[in-house]
Amino acid sequence: MFDSQIIVNLTYVVAAVLFIVGLKMMAHPRSAVRGNLISSVAMLIAVVATAAWIFVDTNDTLAGWLLIGLGLAVGGVIGAVMAVKVEMTQMPQLVALFNGLGGGASVLVAGAELVGVTDAHATVDVMLAIGLSGLIGTVTFWGSLVGFGKLQEIDWFEKPLPIPMPQVFNALVAVLLLIMLAVMVSGGVGWPYLVIILLATVLGFTLVMPIGGADMPVVIALLNSYSGLAAAATGFVIDNNVLIISGSLVGASGIILTQIMCKAMNRSLVNVLFGTMQAGGGPAGSDDEMYANVRSTSADDIAMILDTAQRVVFVPGYGLAVAQAQHAVRDLANLLSDKGIEVEYAIHPVAGRMPGHMNVLLAEADVPYEQLKEMDEINPTLGQVDVAIVIGANDVVNPLANTDPNSPISGMPIIEVDKARTVIVIKRSLSPGFAKIPNPLFAAENTLMFFSDGKKAVLDIVGAVKELG
Ligand code: NDP
Repeated sequence: MFDSQIIVNLTYVVAAVLFIVGLKMMAHPRSAVRGNLISSVAMLIAVVATAAWIFVDTNDTLAGWLLIGLGLAVGGVIGAVMAVKVEMTQMPQLVALFNGLGGGASVLVAGAELVGVTDAHATVDVMLAIGLSGLIGTVTFWGSLVGFGKLQEIDWFEKPLPIPMPQVFNALVAVLLLIMLAVMVSGGVGWPYLVIILLATVLGFTLVMPIGGADMPVVIALLNSYSGLAAAATGFVIDNNVLIISGSLVGASGIILTQIMCKAMNRSLVNVLFGTMQAGGGPAGSDDEMYANVRSTSADDIAMILDTAQRVVFVPGYGLAVAQAQHAVRDLANLLSDKGIEVEYAIHPVAGRMPGHMNVLLAEADVPYEQLKEMDEINPTLGQVDVAIVIGANDVVNPLANTDPNSPISGMPIIEVDKARTVIVIKRSLSPGFAKIPNPLFAAENTLMFFSDGKKAVLDIVGAVKELG
């Protein structure tokens, strides 16, 4: 007969396979929802198997069981309420918080395990795993909270650090951390762990605080990877295979996503982490000067322009999410398609506030996947587009990325809408986007601005197109 440990491990293998299948399915919008569901089921299997194992294998007291139940209930309720309540536009902040909590949980679990470690059990592997859980988990926790603050645009998190040479300072803290890890591995049970947590707290702040808000997507993806590594290290501490596997999957997928994001912004990871990019700044000359020739338009005029178009491309950005204009845009696209106009959507990899943000919104509005074109695919064809309609996008269509080497977004590939015959930009004002820089596209010769809320603007255009017949 199998013993309980073998059954639990077999269950973990099933969960791990389902995690991998789920991840694979998340790579395509068509299968992403099912992939998410499969991964959730895998997590449920892992939790139930672990709880069952504790039940069979330990003689835990009733109080212990009540504590576990309370933890599951409180965590489950908080998670469910947050997932339901959070606005789509706040999703990156939620991801940052969840990453941070994952890191924090690893620190607590490893710390609790350390309390039970006697000198006899303080082997190199256990102590190293505990030390790494504490280190990576703490950096993840505080780094994610800083990332949350920056994404939430809380002023305090944009302040410069009062440290003269931050990189030298960070290097010193890192050396001290390595020394403390060595002390732990050589049998230092107790205080070195607390020192590691203190030092890693400092590092979590000083590493993420100087990074500009516009680089946050990359940092959040990287912290996601860290939270996985912390969980994997904790898996070694408590000897839990499924935690090692799932932590490694999160670690690996986080780093792959980081790489994809870096490529989308044309930055190296080293440049993102230690570069000088800060939110703000901009080209010489005032915004008034740049925007002196801005021309605005109306829904009726846009309907007339669309009436003669053969190919129209929508370029969605963060403002589409804020305005919740995705259904209205789909209606306009359908109306144009019915008139025989070719309609596509140009998707920038960092449009919005999280990777895949636009894909999720447009999928929610049942936009056909074949109409979604990635930046690299659509850019070479934009010269043959009659009308490009930019809805709530700003940084991802800002030509300064190509022309101003001092711009915070310099080198970031953009959707080159300025190549289209006519560009219509729908937004409420001339305010800047996430990178807080002006955008010369708004004053370009072939650009017309439609100042309005995204959803209202598109509904007005739908009305005007229908009226035109
Ligand atoms: P931006 O943040 O550059 O611009 C969004 C624009 O939307 C604003 O200029 C705003 O102008 C407009 N807007 C806001 N609300 C509305 C509304 N109700 N109706 C119409 N327009 C509205 O967005 P992009 O998508 O172009 O660029 C994304 C930026 O976010 C990049 O800098 C990227 O690096 C960064 N980022 C991306 C993440 C990701 O993973 N995708 C994560 C974190 C940051 P106005 O106020 O005038 O209406």
